Amino acid sequence: SSEPQTMQEARILAVANQKGGVGKTTTAINLATALAACGEKVLIIDLDPQANATTGLGLEHDEKRQTVYEVLHASCEVDDVVLPTRVPGLDVLPSSVELSGAELELVNLPQRDRRLADALGRSQRDWSYILIDCPPALGLLTVNGLVAAHAVVVPLQAEFYALEGLSHLLRTVERVRQTLNPDLELQGVVLTMYDSRNNLCNMVADDVRAFLGGRVYETVIPRNVRVSEAPSHGKPVLLYDLRCAGSQAYLHLAREVLRREGRALPDAALAS
Ligand code: ADP
Ligand code: MG
Repeated sequence: SSEPQTMQEARILAVANQKGGVGKTTTAINLATALAACGEKVLIIDLDPQANATTGLGLEHDEKRQTVYEVLHASCEVDDVVLPTRVPGLDVLPSSVELSGAELELVNLPQRDRRLADALGRSQRDWSYILIDCPPALGLLTVNGLVAAHAVVVPLQAEFYALEGLSHLLRTVERVRQTLNPDLELQGVVLTMYDSRNNLCNMVADDVRAFLGGRVYETVIPRNVRVSEAPSHGKPVLLYDLRCAGSQAYLHLAREVLRREGRALPDAALAS
């Protein structure tokens, strides 16, 4: 006999910033891993043709593998394309270089802004969190990510012009909210690759906090060599070196994200 299950809808977080190299993929992989370590069931969607999240999670290159590209074209369903990773509780919807064509191809498809949202709506799986690793642009792929999401996590590198880029991104989020996805929120902004000995870094961080106040996470992700080494081993840094400063920072970030989500906190997993 099967009892009726109360299925909680997955919370969908888009990890977005139109600038490349600011720590989107690193944050998506390691926040997803930290959430999985807390007992959440997590899916990471690689929405970048560079497929760095796919390879960073240890998936070998495979030309025959179906990816988010087929899902966006609705020739495959999410549930048929998703693969497990070596992190317990973490699955991945992989990407491939093919996806670089999607930006143009989607223009001519119906519901071009909500292809990903619709595909996720057809999934029967019960992830509690879905993280979307967006590409470094504000084109149709990122818009699909923002339309599918409940909230946006913005990784920000504290450097010159960071605030200009952030304002641009926030205007895009606002535009999506007003037109395509009225429920979209800013989950928070996380300072990445932070170097507290660097004065510019500290000044920009102060400016960002003055501008956004409590929307900036207390947790900052330090620049840490273990974080940058981990992807070449096909592992999240939490599997590569749990004790390094980068891993600990991502565990703290997960705790902050969960606190903002207002969901029950898991017990021992995050004790620090
Ligand atoms: P994006 O997805 O925004 O393009 P990535 O997450 O790929 O950015 O990060 C860009 C580069 O910086 C990668 O080589 C990554 O390993 C490195 N990196 C990211 N975060 C850190 C960190 N906290 N410390 C050191 N290197 C980092
Ligand atoms: Mg990336």
